Amino acid sequence: MTHATDVTNSIDAGRGTTARRAFLTRAALTAAVPAAASLTAGLLSGTAEAAATPDLPDFAPVPAGSLGPALNGQGYYVGPIADGLYWVTDGSYQAMFLATREGVVLVDAPPTLGHNLIRAIEQVTRPIGLPSKVTHLVYSHSHADHIGAAGLWGKDVERIGHAENRRLLKRDADPGRPAPATVFEDRLVVEVGGERLELSHHGANHAPDNIFIRAPRQRTLMVVDVFYPGWVPFSNLAVSQEIPGWVRAHDIALGYRWQTLVAGHLGRLGHRGDAEVQRQYIADLYAGARAAIAGLDPTPFFAKYGPGGNAWAVFKTYLRAAAERAAGPVTDKYLGVLAAADVFTVDNAFTVVESLRIDDDVLGPFAIHP
Ligand SMILES: [Zn+2]
Repeated sequence: MTHATDVTNSIDAGRGTTARRAFLTRAALTAAVPAAASLTAGLLSGTAEAAATPDLPDFAPVPAGSLGPALNGQGYYVGPIADGLYWVTDGSYQAMFLATREGVVLVDAPPTLGHNLIRAIEQVTRPIGLPSKVTHLVYSHSHADHIGAAGLWGKDVERIGHAENRRLLKRDADPGRPAPATVFEDRLVVEVGGERLELSHHGANHAPDNIFIRAPRQRTLMVVDVFYPGWVPFSNLAVSQEIPGWVRAHDIALGYRWQTLVAGHLGRLGHRGDAEVQRQYIADLYAGARAAIAGLDPTPFFAKYGPGGNAWAVFKTYLRAAAERAAGPVTDKYLGVLAAADVFTVDNAFTVVESLRIDDDVLGPFAIHP
C-alpha cells in the first residue's frame, strides 16, 4: 500500500494525486478480497462494496402467512401465549418465559435478542405487578445461537438443562453460556410460583442434549431446531447431529398434547398444522430420495471420474445429482406453502440421501459389490 502510494505521487507530480491514490487503494482492496469476504471488506473500507458484490440468486417471495408480527423500534416483539406464558422474537430467533409471583422462568437466551429479553420481560411483568427478576433459566440445548446471552444473568439464577447439556457447556467453557447446576436425564418438572414446566429428553435429535419443554396449563410445547412454522427446515435438516432422532422428534412432539408451538426460530408461533405439514415435507423428501437412489444410473459418474481415480468426484456428483432429483418435485409441491422451499430443499434432500445411505443401508451403487 505504501509503495503504491509513493509511486503514484512521483508520477502525478501533484496533478490529480488524491483521486488516483483513492483509485489505487480501491483497486488494491478489491483485488485482495475474495468474494466470500466481500461483506467484511465493504464494511471496513466503505469503498469496495460495489466492485465486490457477489452475483446473488433470486428466490420466490416469502408467503405472507410465514411472517410474524411487526417488531418494535428496538427490534423485538413480545406477546402473550396463555396464562402467564409469553414469547419473544426478533424475526429470526425466539425465546419463551413464564411470569410467576415468585419470579420469571426464561427458556433460552438467543444473543440476537440479547438485552431485549430483559426489556421484554420488564415490559410484560411491570404493568401486572409481577417480579421482573429471572430466577430460573432453562436451556433447550447448548448451541450458542440459542443461549449465547445466558451470561447476562448472574450467579443467583438457577440454570437448568439436560445432563449432556452440562457436559457440553463445561467442555465449551464459554462465559456467555454458564453450565447448568440443575440437570436431569429423562424428565424434570420445574415448579415456580404455582406455575409448571415439564422438561423431557427423548435421546439425541438436532443435538444430543435437545429437550422438549411443555407448559401443560398453557397447552404449549417448545422444542428448538426441529420445527420451522411456515418455512422449510434450515439447511441440511437443521444441521442436525442425529438425523433418525431428528425425524423421530416430529412424532414425539405430535404425540404430546399442545396447541401452541415455540420453535425457537423465525417470526411467528406454530400450531399443530405446521408440525404436520413439516412431517409430510420430510416424508416426501425420504420418498423422493429413495426413488432417486433407486433410479439414478451411476454409470456416467464412474465413467467420467473413475478412470482418473477421483473417488470423491464420483461421490460428490452422484450424491448431488440424487439430491437434486429428490428435491425437484418436493420444491414444486411446497413453493408458496412453505417459505424458502427453493432455498434449502436441495440441501435438505442431500442430508436425507446421506442418512438413507449411512443409517438405513440404502447404498445404491455403493452397496455390497461384488
Ligand atoms: Zn441448535
